Amino acid sequence: MHPLARLDRRYVWHPFTQMRDWMRREPIVIVDGRGSVLRDAHGREYLDGNATIWTNLHGHGHRGINMAIRRQLNRIAHSSALGFANEPASLLASRLVREANRGLPGHARLRATSGLAAKGRQPRLEKVFYSDNGSTALEVALKQAWEFGRRVRGLRRPRFLSLEGAYHGDTIGAVALGHIDLFHAAFRGLLFRTDSVMAPYCYRCPFNRAEPERADARHYRRCHWECVAKVESAFTQAAREKRPYTAWVVEPRMQGAAGMIPQPDGWLAQTAEIARGHGALLVADEVMTGFGRTGATEKHSLFACHHEGVQPDFLCLAKGLTGGYLPMAATLTTQQVFDAFLGEYSEFKTFFHGHSFTGNQVGAAAALASLATLETDAHRHHRRLLEDAFDQALANLWTSPAVGDVRRVGLVAGIELVRDWTTRASFDLRERVGIRVCEAMARRGVLTRPVGSVIVLMPPYSTTVRQLRTMVAVLAESIDEVLGVRRAVSAVGGPKPTPRPRRRPRRE
Ligand SMILES: *Cc1c(COP(=O)(O)O)cnc(C)c1O
Repeated sequence: MHPLARLDRRYVWHPFTQMRDWMRREPIVIVDGRGSVLRDAHGREYLDGNATIWTNLHGHGHRGINMAIRRQLNRIAHSSALGFANEPASLLASRLVREANRGLPGHARLRATSGLAAKGRQPRLEKVFYSDNGSTALEVALKQAWEFGRRVRGLRRPRFLSLEGAYHGDTIGAVALGHIDLFHAAFRGLLFRTDSVMAPYCYRCPFNRAEPERADARHYRRCHWECVAKVESAFTQAAREKRPYTAWVVEPRMQGAAGMIPQPDGWLAQTAEIARGHGALLVADEVMTGFGRTGATEKHSLFACHHEGVQPDFLCLAKGLTGGYLPMAATLTTQQVFDAFLGEYSEFKTFFHGHSFTGNQVGAAAALASLATLETDAHRHHRRLLEDAFDQALANLWTSPAVGDVRRVGLVAGIELVRDWTTRASFDLRERVGIRVCEAMARRGVLTRPVGSVIVLMPPYSTTVRQLRTMVAVLAESIDEVLGVRRAVSAVGGPKPTPRPRRRPRRE
């Protein structure tokens, strides 16, 4: 075992990891990264199949970002946002505000309209509050929305509505907003109550009457938008009880940790309108979806909400903000929310929240370099090219009976593995099918992590078409290895392959 691996096993406790499993094998120690390739301590190379847990945008060792970081380090690494402004954080805030208001249909006209409950109101995002990670970005939105609800709407206990299966981070407030029982049940006693409503999960939707097909379930579903009706009735019910929701919290276009669950086109715009109609603030958690991950829009917006012309009242950004290089987050909000915290010092309307590394200079410098790269034409062109190539490569997966759903939004894909695609019968989590497939992928030189039985592919934008095809091909081979052979079965006249022995599911 590599000496670094030995140190890790001896001293490090890893996140979201059953450490007993971890101790059973030598961990991969990453020492180097160039573009979409990672190298471990033994010199083995891997493709970065999930963009280093959804953070990396432009690949590792990006020249522009590295240079920006070095340049900043030659001046200063950090100064406090408590009491001082700094150059990169100021520049970045203005750039983020510009990007966040770009490409919205007719936002100039909508800017003029105000009034809280006005239907179709599209706010402008004007202010940036910095923090350190996705969880804190949500935590900030949560606290600001809470205070806004109390001060402006006169609510005693503002309420929050979010989606079933939602994941908004791991700090206590962010956990309270989330609804993944597996992660959250243990901490229930620590949490405040929030409500959840049905998420649009076409593949497993009880209202979808379509028989399974070899296609993305969103595209052949048969339903009457019951998921939207559920949102409507949640808001109506709350209004009837005279306890309206203060905020509607969503991951737009695609829920990540819930299992890469995409929303059918139109869902976001419809539910946003319902929420606005009830005077609720819209909190968009774009920690995973932001910065172009969910694909190009005509007006070059970098954010998922804008695909449906929706502008939130809070835009929460983290993972990709610095290109995935440094921990930094931003919560963007409106003048209206900002104003609710203005007053004489003695009124104590101040937003009492902050972190030691808020507005970090090196992080902001990296983020500026990342944004500069994102907006070049060559970069946009390459992202489009990758999306097409991704689509073509993923289409090959349908030949496997263990593939139930393949869902791609932009450069994010979730591949849901099932026991039998004709019935959508799922695997028990204890069978660790997703984990085993990802382990098989790692042996073949592609790194990613599953969400339950859903395999995630999220190539960094630096990925070449060839590398992207390799990622998908390796996934197909690994599914074969873990769940039995299929491709060869259709090889006419060839010898019948002996199915590989299924490994016994390990009971824990
Ligand atoms: C990762 C993630 C978070 C939490 O971000 P951290 O930086 O891990 O705290 C929140 N929301 C979404 C949608 C995420 O994907």
